[in-house]
Amino acid sequence: MKEEGQVKEIPAKKEQFSEWYTAVVLKAELADYAPVRGCMVIRPYGYALWENMQARLDARFKATGHLNAYFPALIPESFLKKEAEHVQGFSPQVAWVTRGGDSELTEPLALRPTSEAIINYMYARWVKSYRDLPVLINQWCNIFRWEKTTRLFLRTLEFLWQEGHTLHRTQEEAQEETRRILNIYVDFVENDLAVPVIAGKKPESEKFPGALATYSIEALMPDGQALQAGTSHNLGQNFSRAFDIRYLDEDNTEKHPWGTSWGVSSRLIGAVIMTHGDDRGLFLPPRIAPYQLVIVPILYGKNDAMVLETCQKAKEMLNAFRAKLDDRPQFTAGWKFNEYEMRGVPLRVELGPRDVEKNQAVLVPRDGSGKRTVSLDRLAEEVKNLLEELQNNMLSRARAWVASVTTSATTLEEFKKNLTEKPGFVKVHWCGAQECENRLIDETRTTPRNMPLEEQNTTGRCIICGKETRTLIYYARTY
Ligand SMILES: [Zn+2]
Repeated sequence: MKEEGQVKEIPAKKEQFSEWYTAVVLKAELADYAPVRGCMVIRPYGYALWENMQARLDARFKATGHLNAYFPALIPESFLKKEAEHVQGFSPQVAWVTRGGDSELTEPLALRPTSEAIINYMYARWVKSYRDLPVLINQWCNIFRWEKTTRLFLRTLEFLWQEGHTLHRTQEEAQEETRRILNIYVDFVENDLAVPVIAGKKPESEKFPGALATYSIEALMPDGQALQAGTSHNLGQNFSRAFDIRYLDEDNTEKHPWGTSWGVSSRLIGAVIMTHGDDRGLFLPPRIAPYQLVIVPILYGKNDAMVLETCQKAKEMLNAFRAKLDDRPQFTAGWKFNEYEMRGVPLRVELGPRDVEKNQAVLVPRDGSGKRTVSLDRLAEEVKNLLEELQNNMLSRARAWVASVTTSATTLEEFKKNLTEKPGFVKVHWCGAQECENRLIDETRTTPRNMPLEEQNTTGRCIICGKETRTLIYYARTY
């Protein structure tokens, strides 16, 4: 049977997580491997998912006063070298263009690994007075990083992202912006993607090259590994000094503005797949699913015309949703059920001759919670409620799971035991010393994720040296 065969081709999520992930990405037609190692093609279904994510995040940026612009992908080598830490941090991953047509270029051009350098260079030409501030610009674009090991969506040589780059008059404003964006990321990732995150500050060793402070949101994947889902950096005056951005303030003195930069990328698609998928395939949160529901007619060869007509009507009733009617006669209803489950469509609406007679439809949510029969008169309302319920349940379920594998440790032995028994986040107190961090990393093969903003008021002893501290930090294995 074709239906059965299709399901069996996806390895079990629990036993073969990595194979399961790749199979789901390929079979659901989200992406495919490109001819160049480490590159991927985002297929229409995956791109529709990205577009929905993009639209919802973009609306939040616009609502907080940001505008979109586009800067070139080619960046002169000398620009990257202007901020010392920045070039050091990125140089192992930069891809270079050294030839144009028949001739060697006099200066190699980097394919942007991030755009601080080119954008701040332009800002130096645009910002002259305090009246020009703040500058609140975002860019949606592709990024290149020459990664050694790659995985579809999670780590590829080229990927899609947004990067915000802002300038402010004061340090306080820049810090406010850094935190405002972090809050937007939390809201977007938790409420739209239904992926719970820990929001916090990165330790020095993990901050963005050239930043004063980096904040991140960290998600936990079902194999117990953390995935950095977004970052927001307070750049201080580092880039405005390096690129000599100066403005004349109200007091008639020249000053360097304070900067921020922040980004999330298409790797969030990987987080969505891993968090919600199951042995039958993808399960997409209704707010971002390319199709929120699919209508499948149940045809017996008798009264088919009437059933198809009612399906059309149902689709019109549901025009407030991203609805698809699959009335292709060459596929059976059973095949369609499996196909749309595998592709993660949150809700299926079934309509057969008996349903038409009774003026009803059958709703089947993707979470396996069972069929429900509803009157066609209340179809739109029932669908709306059910989609909201699904969205909320997805977040609650993911949250409960993360909580169940988040542990605390006060000794190295306890840390290692926790990690073996329940791979996930391990919370520890830390004195802030680099030696203590290095030892913990070496001993446990985990990395520090962040110092959660909401949990910094407990006193404890550093897990390594025993010194009293109020700093709590999350550790995990990571992608
Ligand atoms: Zn210590």
